[in-house]
Amino acid sequence: MASIAVCPGSFDPITNGHLDIIQRGAQVFDKVYVVILSNSAKAPLFSVNERMDLIREVTGHLPNVEVDHYNGLLVEYAKSVNANAILRGLRAVSDFEYEMQITSMNRALDEHLETFFMMTNSQYSFLSSSIVKEVAKYGANISALVPKAVERALQRKFELGS
Ligand code: ADP
Repeated sequence: MASIAVCPGSFDPITNGHLDIIQRGAQVFDKVYVVILSNSAKAPLFSVNERMDLIREVTGHLPNVEVDHYNGLLVEYAKSVNANAILRGLRAVSDFEYEMQITSMNRALDEHLETFFMMTNSQYSFLSSSIVKEVAKYGANISALVPKAVERALQRKFELGS
């Protein structure tokens, strides 16, 4: 049986921390679906299509990675692509409680879907899309935090917005 993972998130926008998890996941699983789920608690800066285009651009070198979006429950999406695993990244301890919560919920919804966590590369432990957006807004250098395409997209977004 092929091992198929879904890697869900907001990816608003994708950072080097996300990319690290996706790249490492692509070495472990036969196929990884990176899926943008709508998160009602967050007002996104980039549209779903913009976020998908950026993820596609920066994962183009990974033949077993596919990019998608879904408006609904992650377990339903996982079923629709025959995934048997959820892949999530863990940064600091602060991620832990939230991840425990959604993992227990997903297990209650589908006990066959296993969640796997990858510890972030320590250089990305404190990296989040929110922090990148916050500093990019004020023109800080974010070249070590996000891929080039994302850096350009953020610059364009804030130039147009200001
Ligand atoms: P969500 O809104 O579901 O938290 P995110 O786009 O913020 O979505 O994150 C998606 C996944 O990527 C989560 O598992 C998150 O923990 C992980 N992640 C985010 N930033 C990093 C990072 N710097 N290093 C490793 N994993 C990360």
